[in-house]
Order: sequence, then C-alpha cells, then structure tokens
Amino acid sequence: VDVLVIGGGLIGLSIAYSAANKGLSVTVIDLPHEGQASVAAAGMLAPLAESLSQTPLVPLAIKSLRLWPLFIDQLRDDATAELVMNGPGTLRLAHTSQEELGLLDAFMWQKAMDMDVECVSNEELHGLEPALNCDIRFATLSPQEKHVDPRVVLSTLREACCNRGVKLLVNEMAQEFTSTDLKIDGVRLKGSIMVCADHYVVAGGAWSQPLLEPLYHLPVVPVKGQAASLGPFERTPFAHTLYSQHGYLLPRPNGTVYAGATEEHSGYDGHMTVEGVESQRKIATTMVPCLESAPLQRGYSGLRPVSPDGRPILGNIPGWDNLHVATGHGRNGVLLTPLTGQLMAEHLTKTNQIPKAFAVSRFSNS
Ligand SMILES: Cc1cc2nc3c(=O)[nH]c(=O)nc-3n(C[C@H](O)[C@H](O)[C@H](O)COP(=O)(O)OP(=O)(O)OC[C@H]3O[C@@H](n4cnc5c(N)ncnc54)[C@H](O)[C@@H]3O)c2cc1C
Repeated sequence: VDVLVIGGGLIGLSIAYSAANKGLSVTVIDLPHEGQASVAAAGMLAPLAESLSQTPLVPLAIKSLRLWPLFIDQLRDDATAELVMNGPGTLRLAHTSQEELGLLDAFMWQKAMDMDVECVSNEELHGLEPALNCDIRFATLSPQEKHVDPRVVLSTLREACCNRGVKLLVNEMAQEFTSTDLKIDGVRLKGSIMVCADHYVVAGGAWSQPLLEPLYHLPVVPVKGQAASLGPFERTPFAHTLYSQHGYLLPRPNGTVYAGATEEHSGYDGHMTVEGVESQRKIATTMVPCLESAPLQRGYSGLRPVSPDGRPILGNIPGWDNLHVATGHGRNGVLLTPLTGQLMAEHLTKTNQIPKAFAVSRFSNS
C-alpha cells in the first residue's frame, strides 16, 4: 500500500479517509486501548471557548471549525450514519468580576478573528437559560461553536473509509518498526507478521510516543480526562453548551448532559474512577443546580495526547524519509479532525506543507 496508518481514532481515520480521497491506497492498524480518547470526548467544536488568549492554535482551530460542514457533507456521500452539528452555540460563563474581565478581554481579539461572538448581560443570560445558577453574572455567546457526537463521527469515518477502499486491520497492534538506512521498511505485528508500505503515519494518540521512542523522542504525554453523562431528561434543562473556567456541560439531543472533564497526569492508566466521574457532577451543579439530583447515566475516561505547547504535532519525523506523525491534539482533537486529515493528505501527496505552528521540527532541539 501507499500509506500505513497506525491508530484508528478520529485522527488516524481522518487521515486515512482524506488520503484515500486523494487516490492513495491506505491500510489502518488499530488496537483500541483502554482510554482511547476519541470515544470519551465531549465533541465540542469550540476554538474560542477553549482559548482565553490568542495562541497560534486559534486561527488553525477556527479554520478546522469552518471545514466541519463540508467534511460532514463529504462523509454523507460515503456513509449512511446521520452525522450533524448540534446546538445553538456555546455560552462562556463568568462567575466572578475577574472572570468577566477575562471574557471581555478575549471578546476584543475574538471579534477581530471574524467569528460571531457577542456579550450577553446578566438579564439576557438568565432569560436565555433560566436553569443557570443565579451567581453567574455575565457570558459571551458564540453561535458557531456547536458540537458533534464523537462516537457517531468515529463510526461514520470507519464506514466511509471502507467505502473508499481503505483496509482496516482492527485488533492488531503495531509492535515495532524495522528499518534499513534511515528508511522504514515494515511494521511488526504480533506473531512476527510484517506489514509494509511506502509511507508510515503514527496516529496512535497518547500511545504514539512509546511506539516511536526507539527512533525519535516525541514530547507528548498522556493527560487523563474523566467525564459524567447525566440524565436522561425528557428535555435537557438548557440548550447551549455551557463552558466555565472549571468545566463544561453539553446537552445531547438524546436528552443526556455530558459534564467534563478532569485533567490528570497519571501516566497510561486510562481507567475510570468513582471520584473522577463524581467530581464532574459537582462542577456541573455550580453551573446548573438542578443537575444535583440527576441520575448518573455513565462515566467516560480517555487519555488525551498532549504536547508541550498544546498544539498538534504533524508531518515528517526528522531523519526518516518515510515516517510521519499526527498526534498531540490535546483537548481539541475532535475540532481539529477535518483539518488534520486535509493537512496530512496534502503532506503525503506533497501538494502542501504542514504549517510551521504544527510541524514536528519546532521540537527538533528539545
Ligand atoms: C474526556 C475528554 C473530553 C474531550 N472533549 C473534547 C471536545 O469536546 N472537543 C475536542 O475537540 N476534543 C476533545 N477531547 C480531545 C480528543 O478526544 C482527542 O484529542 C482526540 O480524540 C485524539 O484522537 P486520536 O485519534 O489522536 O487518539 P485516540 O482516540 O486515543 O486514538 C488512538 C488509537 O490508536 C490506537 N493505537 C495506539 N498505538 C497503537 C499501536 N501501536 N498499534 C495499534 N493501535 C494503536 C489506540 O488504541 C487508539 O485506538 C477530549 C478528550 C477527552 C479525554
């Protein structure tokens, strides 16, 4: 095959799908680990709510947000699942006067980025979402920041990949690379089976670094996120995604509320804990008090792959002709799915370069 992708989360599948759309033959190897990030994610597409300061990630995240409608249209042609962008947008909430000042500061540069964003006064806010805690004094509203269900995106991408001729080797683990003269010539699976390709892309999320370690040190660490799903309600008590400095709440069309998420540096342990999940309900009630009595439907736990500057790491691994990586998406991997697929497919077909803000080379001296 032309390209072998290691990792079948949102990032690996989006690369496989985009590369297949450019005419490349692609195989994906995936062994779902406990704590796979893509199945635990909330699915917010929220470049503004996620950033109170103007970092180099923001313009690229906005670019990816704008690709989502087209990405969904394209997937509709290749898969049957009903994938939609949900919600009337995101309210970023301020509990204190200091948080209000932070939101007003961010509002100035966010407006300049050509995004719909507006200030919502206390009175308007509580009229808009009556279930909110009356302590919340101010908010900004960004109607374009909707959400998707990451599990539906994942199954849609799998189906679309198959229909585009991508071969999926599920429940297979890539154990190590073999190489000759700074060129990778195969990946060893269990039982000494070798899989060979012209190009290899490591998109193994938080587990990318251990696979690459013998060849290259990638500064990516696993950061565990735990979340709770509350309900179901006949109708969720609020309609917008609610985002505060302490956590966020996302109302799903099926009547449940997703409350997330912790940030824990606990290595590769992807297990859920009672304390982790329950802590999210407590934070949820600081935003919407009536959630205190809501039944816990289920918990989630996932390991986010996090880079030192919080930006993805994409492109060629220095020193290796045919070895590439796409990881480090941290808290924004769902949002960045369409852009990552596009950038990596353009990189593999040599039709465009990876933007400097995302390139592996920014860590070459570390
Ligand atoms: C609780 C939580 C909430 C989140 N909410 C949001 C959100 O609202 N919006 C947003 O944009 N992002 C969110 N994220 C972040 C997002 O989920 C991640 O950035 C994204 O899913 C990373 O995708 P990935 O494909 O790189 O990794 P993963 O989904 O972890 O997939 C990697 C896959 O590769 C496999 N793999 C690894 N190594 C090997 C190997 N050697 N051989 C075979 N297979 C291998 C793994 O088992 C796994 O299946 C959230 C994350 C968490 C944990």
